[in-house]
Amino acid sequence: MELCTTIQAIRHARAALGTVGFVPTMGFLHEGHLSLVRQARAENDAVIVSIFVNPIQFGSAEDLSTYPRALERDVALLQQEGVACVFAPDVAELYPEGFVTQMSLGGVAAALEGTSRPGHFAGVAMVLTKLFNIIQPQRAYFGQKDAQQCAVVRRLVEDVNSPVEIITAPTWREADGLAGSSRNSRLTEEDRKRAPALYRALCHARDCVRAGEHRRTVLEAAMRSVLEAEGLTDIDYAMIVNPETFHTEGEIIPSHALALLAVRLGAVRLIDNMPLL
Ligand code: AMP
Repeated sequence: MELCTTIQAIRHARAALGTVGFVPTMGFLHEGHLSLVRQARAENDAVIVSIFVNPIQFGSAEDLSTYPRALERDVALLQQEGVACVFAPDVAELYPEGFVTQMSLGGVAAALEGTSRPGHFAGVAMVLTKLFNIIQPQRAYFGQKDAQQCAVVRRLVEDVNSPVEIITAPTWREADGLAGSSRNSRLTEEDRKRAPALYRALCHARDCVRAGEHRRTVLEAAMRSVLEAEGLTDIDYAMIVNPETFHTEGEIIPSHALALLAVRLGAVRLIDNMPLL
């Protein structure tokens, strides 16, 4: 496995590979990331993983400075997974002095995470545009855990006519239902015990739908009740949307509705989602 830190080195390494499956990450890898890597390996000649904590997608300097990092450990894990190359540039390599271009997104990027974290998706779209141009993969893999990000990326490649095929992989969860996230490592012991309430709230909404409840406000209130019963009261959003638009549409939910949560536990903000089949 090759570890590349410059654009020149990764372009050179990529040129020697056939079809490439690309997994963009911010590092501090967990089983969720590795599940994407395994799927990419099965579907391509070679896998490239990027590890880059993209500063322009962070709204708060604090979240950026406390974002967990473990490059050496990550590289060892990826070596075991049979990854061909890791691209781990520093910030100046991707954003050299003089960098001025910005992106502006609407539509699926405008609600939920787009409202709670202004500029977040513009930063994600910029770094992915750069990484797709540098690596030129056939396919790029994203987790359903970040459902809105998946929709934003699909829209992005369509809008800029990028030939990269976007694959969405299922959310990997701990045994107690908590969705894998690098941010889980920053939870206190107590908050870690409470955190599976996000999953339980989503399951509860799904069960209510299966039992015949289709009123959006009732289902959203039901999710909030599960969270609040666990002492999780700092709820950024608990919403049910049309997954094509990521906006709410009327009181009766569509048949393929998606429930999404963003909740703060101390300094850590967790998100999760579930289709309400
Ligand atoms: P991140 O390092 O948080 O930017 O995540 C990199 C990629 O891994 C994104 O496409 C995420 O959606 C995906 N990912 C993160 N957590 C999970 C998970 N628990 N299950 C599946 N994919 C995940």
